[in-house]
Amino acid sequence: MNRTQARKIINGAAAVGDLHALFYFVEMTLPASLRPPSGAATMAASYPAGWVPVVPLAPDPDAARHYVHLMLELMASANRGRGIVLSVELTAPDILEDCGVRWYVWGEPIPALVDAVCPVCGGVRRVAVGAVLDCCPASLAPLGVGAGMYAGQWWGGA
Ligand SMILES: [Zn+2]
Repeated sequence: MNRTQARKIINGAAAVGDLHALFYFVEMTLPASLRPPSGAATMAASYPAGWVPVVPLAPDPDAARHYVHLMLELMASANRGRGIVLSVELTAPDILEDCGVRWYVWGEPIPALVDAVCPVCGGVRRVAVGAVLDCCPASLAPLGVGAGMYAGQWWGGA
């Protein structure tokens, strides 16, 4: 995404009060030798492994841009000589989650993870403390809208 495209998205979001829904992250383009078996060439840069740091644009998108470029330089420094190309991109948390990405706001603690066991199907999933365990449709069906399991405990239902 070039800077003009980014500016249009940011201005549009700010105009309708949605700036809080935008985050910067660093995307990496991998050389062929470092690509995963899927062959994916680009992905969100993570640190530590499996966690993508993001920088919220609100309340000051210009400050956020400077901040995310500092993050990019740290990642570039740690990966110098590996042929990885880094760039700053925009996203929203729901897009990251739809892609199965775990993210955190850079500078804030990473959520602790627990193994949660679904009492309906017995499935085990590693989730952040406090996350809703939406393991399977049957785990949510008895509880109704807005309910689910909370860090391995039932909540919002009987
Ligand atoms: Zn389940």
